[in-house]
Amino acid sequence: MTDSITASPAPLFRRLAIIGPGLIGSSILRRARQDGTIAARLVACDISPDVCRRVAELGLADEVEHDPLRAVADADCVILCVPVGAIAEVGAHILPAMKPGAILSEVGSTKLSILTAIAPALRPDVPFVPTHPMAGTEHSGPDAGFATLFDDRWCLLTPLPETPAAATDLIVEMWHRMGARTRIMDPAHHDRVCAIVSHLPHLLAFTICGTADDLADETRSEVLDFAASGFRDFTRIAASDPVMWRDIFLNNREALLEMLARFMEDAQAMARAIRWGDEEFIVDRIERGRHIRRSLIENRQA
Ligand code: NAP
Repeated sequence: MTDSITASPAPLFRRLAIIGPGLIGSSILRRARQDGTIAARLVACDISPDVCRRVAELGLADEVEHDPLRAVADADCVILCVPVGAIAEVGAHILPAMKPGAILSEVGSTKLSILTAIAPALRPDVPFVPTHPMAGTEHSGPDAGFATLFDDRWCLLTPLPETPAAATDLIVEMWHRMGARTRIMDPAHHDRVCAIVSHLPHLLAFTICGTADDLADETRSEVLDFAASGFRDFTRIAASDPVMWRDIFLNNREALLEMLARFMEDAQAMARAIRWGDEEFIVDRIERGRHIRRSLIENRQA
């Protein structure tokens, strides 16, 4: 019998700094800690002293830094995991402190507005690799993260034309080690895709919960008493973080409004079919929904 000893691959980064170790950032830290081949040393930094304290208590990083400039100074990769509206500002603040050759990345849910806002602060010697892991829950903060969050999920990358391929390759490899599948995408296309698959569903969920809440007191209590799976599923999505979703809606305004207009046309068509008893149209729309659900299950995205 022969012993086969397979050596683990070397860590991709010597020092990885996560700014904003909330749901996404702490999940990256947990996976990197568990995997061991992503970074030799993990650094976490947050604007909130409570979050810093909690990250230290949970033992998610080797170092917890309150000062972002110190956190990034010696890092060879920095990932911004703060709300979309803060990414460019935090990026511009830390970029001058990063060492040449280090990679700057971020995980924001929109892309075009971040690219436009951060562009003046970018440095030619610090490759920028924007990413968007298509994974999450309605919870936030460092306690909400978990190491398997990215398993089998897509991570979309929108590198700039000038981003060196070697930097993009490293970030792609990092996401593979996180368990994700990756796809490189144009930022405008990314924003339109996410508007329909993520941002519009959240808009609908917030709106339907608001509509139910606006109903008369008696009806409202019945809504809550008898909430069946349809409404219950909407309330799960509607429990998401207000700051995060405010930023996403405002930062993906054009694409989201375009998708909302198309949705309202389709909803009108459904209303018309119901009014005129167009059974064929109604069944066709429901069957399309069932087909999409089956495809998601087959793609392990359900
Ligand atoms: P989260 O749990 O709220 O974590 C964000 C963290 O960033 C919080 O600890 C927050 O502190 C901190 N923060 C805010 N402003 C900061 C600043 N200026 N400097 C340093 N830290 C700051 O949010 P999340 O769900 O992980 O989302 C983080 C990013 O991932 C967002 O850009 C979001 O669009 C993107 N994303 C989210 C999901 C999802 O489903 N949740 C999926 C994919 C991508 P405070 O709590 O004190 O504000």
